[in-house]
Amino acid sequence: MTTFAGTGLPASTDGYLALDEQWSAHNYHPLPVVIADAAGATVTDVDGKSYLDFLSGYSALNFGHRHPDLIAAVTEQLGRVTLTSRAFHHDQFGLFCRELAELTGTEMVLPMNSGAEAVESAVKLARKWAHRIKGVPDGTAEIIVAGANFHGRTTTIVSFSTDETARADFGPFTPGFVTVPYGDADAVRAAITPRTAAVLLEPIQGEAGVIVPPAGFFAEVRRACDEEGVLLIADEIQSGLARTGTVLALDHEGVRADLYTLGKALGGGILPVSAVVGGREVLGVLKPGEHGSTFGGNPLACAVGRAVIRLLNTGEFQRRSTELGEHLRQRLGKLVGHGLSEVRGRGLWAGIDLAPGGPSGRAASEALAKLGVLCKETQDTTLRIAPPLVITRAELDRGLDAITQVVQA
Ligand SMILES: *Cc1c(COP(=O)(O)O)cnc(C)c1O
Repeated sequence: MTTFAGTGLPASTDGYLALDEQWSAHNYHPLPVVIADAAGATVTDVDGKSYLDFLSGYSALNFGHRHPDLIAAVTEQLGRVTLTSRAFHHDQFGLFCRELAELTGTEMVLPMNSGAEAVESAVKLARKWAHRIKGVPDGTAEIIVAGANFHGRTTTIVSFSTDETARADFGPFTPGFVTVPYGDADAVRAAITPRTAAVLLEPIQGEAGVIVPPAGFFAEVRRACDEEGVLLIADEIQSGLARTGTVLALDHEGVRADLYTLGKALGGGILPVSAVVGGREVLGVLKPGEHGSTFGGNPLACAVGRAVIRLLNTGEFQRRSTELGEHLRQRLGKLVGHGLSEVRGRGLWAGIDLAPGGPSGRAASEALAKLGVLCKETQDTTLRIAPPLVITRAELDRGLDAITQVVQA
């Protein structure tokens, strides 16, 4: 039996689980699968069992595990320079910013690392814009957010979460946020005051269960924002970068935001890379020293981000998402009334509600893992289906066969 050197613990799934249990903070409840390597849409655990990845790191792995173009870009950059800090310029930075702005149809880029940092940055930008450009008295700007939102885990961001588990015991909270129901444009309009800086929304609410807004919602919010001089901020960290079949999920609504937050897939599943992108009149409010990050926009991150943008510029992943997504929804749709109560989504991204009387989300996830498919419940009775966009149709069908078996059990 192989053991961890000096511990006597077996180097098996149980041994690894015991290590995590003893030595890591328990802020997650992972499935009992210990991944050792991965390629494309497949991961392999320490016992040599293979699984289809139907979660894709919450869409951080849109291009699959270790996409050869991304690995090549990172490897090449590792041989040159990895970190400069923003105290100096480097040769990947401006190109990354230009290419990301061109990809998203925007004018300026503020690179950060994690998604939460991008959202924090957007909040700071909107507040500064409101105080300096709109003329809202300093320290009084308000941001309108939606119920059941997910924007990250910092103290300010959980201040406007409606998830009690994410908030309890973490106050005092940051003021200045107003919550309205997601999808209710009248409520957004009614919540706007002369102090409103921005409306911050996910184009599709991922964590809430892949909630697609009612048709016309974003167009109406855009109209209200234009009439009242309010910024629209789209958090595309999970929905963006080809997950729904377009670079930006908001494109499906025919609406442009003033700021977009990007993350997750921007780092190609290799590094945390995030950004706020938008127009010059908002991003231009930041002056030297007012905001920053030691690692934000580092050469390695810019190199992987540029390789991600090259993949997106081929259009192949958007096309795969659209085509495979149609097939996904067609097959899942047949399960409504047969184990599922509802199916939502766009592109290769679905939220499926397990019918009452069937397995819980956790039980379904565990059963799927036994059948070689990894996905995870979001909310108690909803599974989020988000395979890498490189998945083949045969692999997708194999995963859907397992889902069919589990939800009908
Ligand atoms: C994941 C996510 C975030 C937070 O990103 P982190 O990299 O985990 O900080 C923010 N917004 C949305 C919509 C997300 O899905």
